Amino acid sequence: MSHATTLAYARERDAADALSHYRQQFHFPKHNDAPVRYFTGNSLGLMPRAVRAYLETELKSWETYGVEGHFEGPHPWMHYHKLFNEKAARLVGALPLEVVVMNTLTTNLHLLMVSFYRPTSGRFKIIMEGGAFPSDQYAIESQVRFHGFRPEEAIVELVPRTGETHLRHEDIIATIAAEGPQTALVLLGGVNYYTGQLFNMADITRAGHAAGAVVGFDLAHAAGNVPLQLHDWNVDFACWCSYKYLNSGPGGPSGIFVHERHAQNAELPRFAGWWGHDEGERFKMKKGFKPMPGAAGWQLSNAQVMAMAPHLASLDIFDEVGMPALRAKSEELTGYLSWLLDELQAEFPQSGLHVITPKNPNERGCQQSIVVPKIGRKVFEYLSANGVIADWREPDVIRVAPVPLYNSFEDVQQLYEMLRAAIIQNS
Ligand SMILES: *Cc1c(COP(=O)(O)O)cnc(C)c1O
Repeated sequence: MSHATTLAYARERDAADALSHYRQQFHFPKHNDAPVRYFTGNSLGLMPRAVRAYLETELKSWETYGVEGHFEGPHPWMHYHKLFNEKAARLVGALPLEVVVMNTLTTNLHLLMVSFYRPTSGRFKIIMEGGAFPSDQYAIESQVRFHGFRPEEAIVELVPRTGETHLRHEDIIATIAAEGPQTALVLLGGVNYYTGQLFNMADITRAGHAAGAVVGFDLAHAAGNVPLQLHDWNVDFACWCSYKYLNSGPGGPSGIFVHERHAQNAELPRFAGWWGHDEGERFKMKKGFKPMPGAAGWQLSNAQVMAMAPHLASLDIFDEVGMPALRAKSEELTGYLSWLLDELQAEFPQSGLHVITPKNPNERGCQQSIVVPKIGRKVFEYLSANGVIADWREPDVIRVAPVPLYNSFEDVQQLYEMLRAAIIQNS
């Protein structure tokens, strides 16, 4: 595809974009009275305008009904978590029975590992990404220790080949095959938070199962970013957060997926709570935990309604647009950014600027991770001072995520202009 670096070209693309009006449904922070160029939807998504009304509905129920709000009002809280089943299922390619919204991400990683990491003396390893998001590293390491194993023996880290910036798919599959007989669990991110690499989850799941391991994914950077088919891919379990691409506000709730084939398995060990208990007799307050079938059986507590209302507002938007349309725009938008970054690289070869995210659209979501050696920090500060919100990762990576719901081609073109100006100023 041939593009142009000009603002006029970007505006033409925006005028032809069928999703461009969704931008109006979000609040943008301001810089010098103009909306910022926001590229950190991979960290905290912008606030949908609808959130205030969704929250107001639940505040009104609380104000009007007190405890009766569990049974009264537009969304009785007793069943609030069920409002998410269909919508979250469509988002991740699952059956409604296979998903539930609850807790926060790291909590759910632990709960799911309780059920799905069951090491034995012969099969105790966990295969994960080297340099995974710190919370995942700590969660996995502590689970390993909890079972009496040593992290340095039990954790197998996938790392890029020397001189390469991201993992080769064939290396992931080869590691799973080689470590397979001792592997209890393969647990990767769907999209790596640092490089933006999208993994082939269907293939990885097949390889993990062929090796006799359980396969799970942390979808923090995948949910709402790339299309998912967790059920068809046969993934055993997954979890994600809702405040990144899913725009549900700071500390927003997590979602989990547990494949249908585990739905009725009451033998799986789990840490239980009353909300996971058979709802027909939940209020009989009897002894003896009897889990709900499906993901619902992993719930601990009654719904955190005030944290979940913004998530509902957001999922309604995702449901309306649909992941196929979002992904189609995302490929265009990130394709444009990728092309512009190539232009910069060609114009300023001495800057050393390069992208560590895979070039192949099938191996990335919307994020681009840009390395700017030496002057990276200065470039990043120049962007911030000029109303471009990006994300800085030591030692020299600038992460930017043009999201299809509210970013425009103009945003991307302006990012290019600012990067260019920053390089010129600092070289
Ligand atoms: C954002 C993120 C987290 C954060 O976990 P919380 O429990 O929501 O604080 C964990 N893991 C990954 C891979 C992430 O990207």
